[in-house]
Amino acid sequence: MQSWSILSYFIKLIKIKPVCKVAHKFGVILFAIFASGIYILYSLNSILTKESGNMQFDYDVIIVGGGPSGATCALYAKRHGLRVLLVDKKKFPRDKICGDAISGKSVTYLRELDLLDKLEARPQVRSNSVTFSSPNGTVVTIPFTPPSAERQSYGYVCRREVFDDLLFKEAQQQVETMEAFAVTDLVLKNGQVQGIVGNNGTTASKTITAKIVVGADGYNSIISRKLGFYEHDPLHWVVATRAYYRSVTDMTDAIEIHFVRDILPGYFWIFPLENNMVNVGLGMLHSEIKRRNLSLRKAHIAATESDFFRKRFEHAELIGDISGWNLPMGSKKRKVHGDGFILLGDAAGLIDPFSGEGIGNGMCSGKIAAEVLARVCKGEKYDATSLAAYETQLWERLWPELNMSYTLQKIGRFQPLLNLVVGRAARNKEVRDWIAGMMAGTQSKESMRSPLTYLKLLFK
Ligand SMILES: Cc1cc2nc3c(=O)[nH]c(=O)nc-3n(C[C@H](O)[C@H](O)[C@H](O)COP(=O)(O)OP(=O)(O)OC[C@H]3O[C@@H](n4cnc5c(N)ncnc54)[C@H](O)[C@@H]3O)c2cc1C
Repeated sequence: MQSWSILSYFIKLIKIKPVCKVAHKFGVILFAIFASGIYILYSLNSILTKESGNMQFDYDVIIVGGGPSGATCALYAKRHGLRVLLVDKKKFPRDKICGDAISGKSVTYLRELDLLDKLEARPQVRSNSVTFSSPNGTVVTIPFTPPSAERQSYGYVCRREVFDDLLFKEAQQQVETMEAFAVTDLVLKNGQVQGIVGNNGTTASKTITAKIVVGADGYNSIISRKLGFYEHDPLHWVVATRAYYRSVTDMTDAIEIHFVRDILPGYFWIFPLENNMVNVGLGMLHSEIKRRNLSLRKAHIAATESDFFRKRFEHAELIGDISGWNLPMGSKKRKVHGDGFILLGDAAGLIDPFSGEGIGNGMCSGKIAAEVLARVCKGEKYDATSLAAYETQLWERLWPELNMSYTLQKIGRFQPLLNLVVGRAARNKEVRDWIAGMMAGTQSKESMRSPLTYLKLLFK
């Protein structure tokens, strides 16, 4: 019998004028027992569901931030069958201050996600090599594909307004998404993250729950701020400018990285874009900017007017402004998980300390996260212990190369060494091939770790 009909039976028993007092009392007692039973069962149920993690959540995973890290995580999570909500405070397409270089590492994930053809169909430049110049003005161009490689290595330069829109639109077709929805707070229960609070700026705040919240919301992450993880360490933080120009001369399909004397450790870049456009910028360690009281904007303009570049920028037209943005470097390991949450990409501080590349590492973190989330969401516990596998796998995958890049960043402070390396590469094919192998990831780890390799390459 339905509980509601049992209840109405008792109500009737109490309401009906008693045939005798005994029957009336009996009805009241029975009703009291029944009501207490229901109450005990209800309480027990809510206690049990809280402790076993069987709470009803709106989603398995909410991903905050629809940039490359968040969108990639959403796409892989969908392949694992997770119920995903991807939210972003902006409406796509939107700009993101960046050099717009999509590295070979990013290409690997784009290929896995069947997105390469779609990228090729959008405005971009496919790049096959990198040009370096040293502080003393030596120039060398190195192809991305080393001679021994079985497969061609290449990258793209694609404006983030275009690239991020491609990824977000793809995610939109596969998972639930919300644009123009800014997350302002977290749902927390006994220290466990269980959802987000946010709004679209016009209607009242909305609360949405999930087993796990993924913070893919960039360097200024609200998720890491709310959880007390946010940290700005000027020794592991780069600030950079970015500007678009038209009609810079002598452009090829190579991305250009120039080690300019006044902005070491850091570099000035010129990356080719479609329709005679280029992406130009410079980045430098924040601690150095502070120490020298430097204006990056002035340094940017000074570089374009320097003897080395003046001629190429003589008839160039600046499109829009020179903008600035922050890059949290992966030169130190930060904590990237906790009770009910994980952090990806810039929110986790994963940018390569030498190249400044963050898209590939962000996409990599998204893929690793999706695998771990799939496993954890099947269980009943979404706490820090269950999610620790994400942090372990992330550092296993990325730390060796981040560490190596940090060493290169430190070497890059010394002008004579930069002059020596670029000079040797310009004169010696073996050195160029070795650098190409290092960039393509085909160089053995042992040889990269051995100081003897570098001595041989530089001085033989
Ligand atoms: C000047 C510059 C040049 C760079 N050049 C390169 C390069 O050439 N190649 C390269 O690989 N990397 C480059 N990087 C690094 C790269 O831009 C980042 O590493 C990359 O964007 C990280 O992606 P992400 O998805 O983690 O974060 P983001 O791309 O920052 O995306 C975060 C998303 O979260 C959303 N968000 C933020 N807060 C909220 C909120 N409260 N609620 C909802 N949504 C929110 C934002 O709107 C945004 O869409 C450069 C960086 C800078 C600053």
